[in-house]
Amino acid sequence: MALVDRKLFGPGPGNPYPEATSALGQPLLGHLDPVFLSLMDETCDRLRTVWGTTNARTIPLSATGSAGMEASFVNTVSDGDVVVVAVNGLFGQRMCDVAARCGAEVVPVEHEWGAPVDVDRVLSAHPSPKVVAAVHAETSTGVRSDIAALGAGKGDALLLVDAVTSIAGIELRADDWGIDVGYAGTQKCLGVAPGLAPFTINDRAFARRVEKPQSWYLDLGLLGGYVGEASGSGGRTYHHTAPTAMVASLHAGLGRILEEGLENVWARHAEAGRLLQSGLLEMGLELFAQEGSRLPELTTVKVPDGVDSAAVRKILLERHGIEIGAGAGAYAATVWRIGLMGHNARPDAALLALAALADALAEVGWKP
Ligand SMILES: *Cc1c(COP(=O)(O)O)cnc(C)c1O
Repeated sequence: MALVDRKLFGPGPGNPYPEATSALGQPLLGHLDPVFLSLMDETCDRLRTVWGTTNARTIPLSATGSAGMEASFVNTVSDGDVVVVAVNGLFGQRMCDVAARCGAEVVPVEHEWGAPVDVDRVLSAHPSPKVVAAVHAETSTGVRSDIAALGAGKGDALLLVDAVTSIAGIELRADDWGIDVGYAGTQKCLGVAPGLAPFTINDRAFARRVEKPQSWYLDLGLLGGYVGEASGSGGRTYHHTAPTAMVASLHAGLGRILEEGLENVWARHAEAGRLLQSGLLEMGLELFAQEGSRLPELTTVKVPDGVDSAAVRKILLERHGIEIGAGAGAYAATVWRIGLMGHNARPDAALLALAALADALAEVGWKP
């Protein structure tokens, strides 16, 4: 099949950083090779920086972001535990499903899609939950929520946070904000192909974990030995074969981010998102996410009345080689999702997305 080079401007994956792509072509290392083990250790160190944590147990789980969600719940929640979940989009809904399968008594706190999490309502939903869970950057709606405020008011509960679309895109400070358990993915703002789930858990949460979770693969007690450092012993035991090529790619992507400077990377995302969003408004389009809570890395746009959402996406893909996302859930046909994440968080990418969308809208006969 011929190579197809797309601009991935949807909700993920985005185009990886060139450094991350090059690393995939390096000679493969064995998963117990000393060179790989030090690469893994350094990857975990770099992950601590982008998480804003000193947690020893900070590792790339060998699966996509959803496995991070699964690992978070399966290791902290068992039969009858109360879990309060802030639901302001698709991923909050999914958290409820995952927690319920662990036997939790789930207390969902529903919000209108497009709005940020109402911290007071979430914190007063139950007097003594074991876990309070929320999504930092809701990719389904393009909304940012205030995790620091949840952390400040969580009391004895463990704060479990989805940072899949926030990590290395917007400010994230796991320790300062009181995040006890967090998971992410590689293919959004980290600028690496999909395949790993950067995960972190602090001592407080680890001490209160489920001793023998029903998942063997995602059992943190067993994974400690696999990354060595986390177990404190320095010894490595075989648990599963680490996806060494993906870890090398993540290592390189993180190297790129840290070389640029994490705060500079956040600023680059902010600027690209600002350019895109102001350009869309100037074109006469409306944004979906509530003003004041809009993510720069993932923009939700209302499909104008009378415009066929899928027809526009088809023109973008076939004429311009640009992928954008449809809306999530009930908004599949009425919202578009445009991501400028990681390597794509650049002014030229924002301007290209605007020009191509204007062309596609003209093609289908839309006038502001
Ligand atoms: C993409 C995403 C996930 C799921 O990650 P996968 O890599 O698709 O498994 C979870 N939460 C949020 C907020 C996401 O954007």
